Amino acid sequence: GTPAYDDGNIFARILRGELPCNKVYEDDHALAFHDINPQAPVHVLVIPKGPYVSMADFTAHAPADLIAGFFRAVGTVAAQLDLVAPGYRILANAGDHAHQEVPHLHIHIFGGRPLGPMLT
Ligand code: 5GP
Repeated sequence: GTPAYDDGNIFARILRGELPCNKVYEDDHALAFHDINPQAPVHVLVIPKGPYVSMADFTAHAPADLIAGFFRAVGTVAAQLDLVAPGYRILANAGDHAHQEVPHLHIHIFGGRPLGPMLT
């Protein structure tokens, strides 16, 4: 089943404006900001504006316009950061096996250097 959404998680607090972030993009559906502990020269997180824990939760429960808008925002941010020509990686951790730390869906965008092989 779907885990309950925790309104007190740190990304929910950022979305409510209770905590600051280093914003790179925002629209009606998504917010993107720099990761506080970057793992690459560019490391940005993109989050949907809604209470969704994981990709499975999001695609099962979010309205279609939010799903479309969120994925559009991921591509827009990659382009805005000039990552399209050199290349970039997107990644989303879900649950314990993937070491998800923050229980609000987020897509990582990594770039700015050659990234090496994908991890499992
Ligand atoms: P996860 O392991 O859940 O996929 O990744 C969570 C990410 O959120 C980590 O890369 C971590 O550095 C980042 N993070 C955690 N807390 C904050 C915060 O308060 N602000 C920002 N900008 N990033 C955070």
